[in-house]
Amino acid sequence: MKEGGTMKTSKSEKLMELSQAVIPGGVNSPVRSFKAVGGVPRFVERAEGAYLFDVDGNRYLDFCCSWGPLILGHADADVVRAVKEQVGKGMTYGTATEIEYRLADFIVSNVAAVEKIRFVSSGTEAVMSAVRVARGFTGRELIVKFEGCYHGHCDHLLAKAGSGLATFGQPSSVGVPGATTSNTFVLPLDNEQLLEECFKQHGDKVAAVIIEGVPANNGLLIQRQEYIRMLRSLTEKYGALLIFDEVITGFRLGLGGAAAYYGIEPDLITFGKVIGGSMPVGAFGGRADIMEMLSPLGPVYQAGTLSGNPVAMTAGLATLRKLSDGQIYRRLEEMTARFVADLKQRLENVPVRVASIASIFWLAFQQELPRSADRIERPGIETYNSKHRPLLDEGIYLPPSGYEVCFISAAHTEEMLAEAARKITNEVRRRR
Ligand SMILES: *Cc1c(COP(=O)(O)O)cnc(C)c1O
Repeated sequence: MKEGGTMKTSKSEKLMELSQAVIPGGVNSPVRSFKAVGGVPRFVERAEGAYLFDVDGNRYLDFCCSWGPLILGHADADVVRAVKEQVGKGMTYGTATEIEYRLADFIVSNVAAVEKIRFVSSGTEAVMSAVRVARGFTGRELIVKFEGCYHGHCDHLLAKAGSGLATFGQPSSVGVPGATTSNTFVLPLDNEQLLEECFKQHGDKVAAVIIEGVPANNGLLIQRQEYIRMLRSLTEKYGALLIFDEVITGFRLGLGGAAAYYGIEPDLITFGKVIGGSMPVGAFGGRADIMEMLSPLGPVYQAGTLSGNPVAMTAGLATLRKLSDGQIYRRLEEMTARFVADLKQRLENVPVRVASIASIFWLAFQQELPRSADRIERPGIETYNSKHRPLLDEGIYLPPSGYEVCFISAAHTEEMLAEAARKITNEVRRRR
């Protein structure tokens, strides 16, 4: 492949055409469609380590990493071996299994705030269930969420702020009844005053405040420690629960996730992505007295045909076990820090900032790194989007939207990252 050349994409184009006839937009999750960045989405045939290979035979260094789960990279040999062995023993039983206990025990042992945990099949389900148990436990209905935080696609959290800075939510999707989001209060991030006001006015009705461990679905909006501490103390004061949505940050920021990073104990934590070792897994857990509200012990109903699926649990446990001595986290952090420093140095005098934490980074084409959604500059997002396609042609697979963060896996190497930094810099400096 020559530098700056355009790749052959005829097979992806053909498959997109066929898929569009039978799948809305040709995709099973909207960002995959490349709507924001243009061009044909690449149909991937296989993946290995840090690379994706598409149906036209092109190879890409993967910075999307399936949106977060792939902390070990693609097709990690140990995970694959464990999964193959389990598949041969049956793929679902609809009974309790030892492997569920093992994964639950691993998480409970590593995450201070989690005394009991239950597995589901996606992050969306985890959040939906955590919110239900929080409402059941407190007997209250109001949920406070933050603008720019994504918690999956359950109806009552698909809410955006109404007019005004802090309001009851309005549906952010057609098909969600206004009544469903009317119990969701939406606040901007990084604003102590509005948080306090919200609690003064509604505190005794708030079942829970939900926040992403580190907001990473709408840029990477790293919050100040004092702000998170205040969230913890206000929820405590008013008898509301604090839910950390750690679907991205859980076992990505380290074994203790964002809770350990900020040094706080939320009442409930939701997980997904990394804990499934690339299989569809979610989980929610926390204080035993809250979790014991769940059926069959208590009155809060929650269930799932494939919850705790043995193949998925096996993939998750094989992944987490490899992470347990901390060496992979240390290497990932060092590698990411060097890569980000390299990018920053190369991009001096260019209006682009790089936010990063652990093995997550985000390219912000603006002068200052934002801490709230309203500070993300739309022209910067458009600049990112315009660089996506040329970088794809250079074999760099960035997430196909400027609002999405990038991930580095244990399969990435210093050499791969150095080359990527060079290609990204060249493209960013090029005018189009
Ligand atoms: C991805 C994500 C979800 C939703 O998880 P799915 O598995 O896609 O349903 C929820 N919360 C956060 C913070 C996420 O990043």
